[in-house]
Amino acid sequence: MTHVRLREEICRFGRSLFERGLTPGSSGNISLRLDDGGWLVTPTNASLGFLDPARIARLDAQGKLVSGDAPTKEIPLHTALYETRAGARAIVHLHSTHAVAITMLPEIDPKAVLPPMTPYYLMRAGQTALVPYFRPGDPAVADAIKGLAGRYSSVLLANHGPVVAGVTLEAAVFATEELEETAKLYLLLRGLNPRYLSPEQVSDLVRVFGLTLPRHDEHGH
Ligand SMILES: [Zn+2]
Repeated sequence: MTHVRLREEICRFGRSLFERGLTPGSSGNISLRLDDGGWLVTPTNASLGFLDPARIARLDAQGKLVSGDAPTKEIPLHTALYETRAGARAIVHLHSTHAVAITMLPEIDPKAVLPPMTPYYLMRAGQTALVPYFRPGDPAVADAIKGLAGRYSSVLLANHGPVVAGVTLEAAVFATEELEETAKLYLLLRGLNPRYLSPEQVSDLVRVFGLTLPRHDEHGH
């Protein structure tokens, strides 16, 4: 895809996410890895609902601004995940309500924030890791993401929001949407003793769709 098309794609997905209330105000940001090793990144203080393709920041492989507005200040979240996830070509970060809400619940397992509730959550977002709270701009959050060693394509920052990688921008957006909807389901069903997917049903998905789920591997199923 040409850079013009990629810029338009960032704006289209950004507007779609914003208009559905998935990230308010000027929160949230999107990045795309280019074939030359550089990146397209949404600008600082820009609303995802009103992006201008021409003003999207283009960075070179060293992260230096080549053209466009200054990139989001949250770029360390993106670079930390790109550094550790070799296949990642796009990253979406949102402040989406339900995903943020579950990070504050006492029972959350940092290695698998959500239980296996639906096949599409597992197929698109995999398992999700929880990263502890860091003040905005604290560089330590990047170290915490790197500490996950690229085993997770979706990460939730406590009291803040999801950071999700994909092999394409569409894949990253769809995975972020699955994460948000699954968080909503979790909140709807909390305390009602719901029936989640069984270990056998999860193993079946892993086998048939070739999924890599960190927790699943850990237990050697
Ligand atoms: Zn943020």
